[in-house]
Amino acid sequence: MSCSKSSSSRTIRRIYVEEEAFGYAITSKVLEKYSDCDVVKIKNYKDVFNRTRQNFILQKKFPQLILAVKKDSFIYEGSAMCQSFGHKSYYYATLMVNCIFDCQYCFLQGMYNSSYIVCFVNVEDFAKEFARMESGSMVAISYETDFIAHHSIVPCMEYIYDYIKEAGWVTFEIRTKSANSLVLSKFKPVDNLILAYTLTPQKIIDSYETFTPNLDARIKAVNHALDMGFKVRVCFDPVFADEDYEDFFYYVFERIDGTRLYDIGYGFFRMPKEQFAKVFRTTKSVVFAKDYVEEDGVITYSEAMIHEASKRHLDIIGKHVDKEKIYIL
Ligand code: SF4
Repeated sequence: MSCSKSSSSRTIRRIYVEEEAFGYAITSKVLEKYSDCDVVKIKNYKDVFNRTRQNFILQKKFPQLILAVKKDSFIYEGSAMCQSFGHKSYYYATLMVNCIFDCQYCFLQGMYNSSYIVCFVNVEDFAKEFARMESGSMVAISYETDFIAHHSIVPCMEYIYDYIKEAGWVTFEIRTKSANSLVLSKFKPVDNLILAYTLTPQKIIDSYETFTPNLDARIKAVNHALDMGFKVRVCFDPVFADEDYEDFFYYVFERIDGTRLYDIGYGFFRMPKEQFAKVFRTTKSVVFAKDYVEEDGVITYSEAMIHEASKRHLDIIGKHVDKEKIYIL
């Protein structure tokens, strides 16, 4: 991702910078890198980000960047729809918001008025919150974005990595669909950091994901991270009902040694009803026309269907990964 000299439509041409954000190291680094971009000084990022009547889809095609200072909450309690992977408590942090990838089933579709990528540059304030967390907590720090995929735009990892190391009593998860292994070469594995790779069948990638790497590239990235000594989680989440997932699981475990994985996350598609309606309005994707039911305000598959399909799936996964390492939601 470069600036205006590139002819790609997905080139960042404009960076909105909050007045207060100018003094921060990330801001300087990004502005130096994108020195030929339009820089627009703004008072408050919400003046741009929260404007009504923005075209979310068009903005996805022509992404812009907003650098801002986060003032209020730095960590949030995870919802019951998120995997806690056996941790006492599960939180997420939003150092960045929105994603350069474009998955039609993503809960971020239409969640905000804008799809511009926001980066909060006051990493130190997030770190102060991490330092206050109780032992045994887990924080997803790539929750409303894909940290690794954005590394070439905003290298957040470089600024947060030392704070992760310092808060050794907290587990941090960075979830990604990126195949960019080069990012990792700058960092040493630490015990309280888990790299979580989301793997989906190629047919799902072709049908419902845009700009994401293909399955083989993601599998390669998983193996690379393992070879480097990182703790690696593989997430089969969300799972959809109408694909041949059995072949997919066999394919994955023919190429990844399941015994090397830290753990596995597995879960069928689920989304709160209101968000489901919003995402559908935004994407009009056929992924939302599947055979769902509503259970307590959540749109998902029927219990019977999940029970029947997950049994077959988990039989295969369980042949490759210890059962106690498989977390199901
Ligand atoms: S990679 Fe993740 S965060 Fe990015 S669009 Fe896809 S589902 Fe959403």
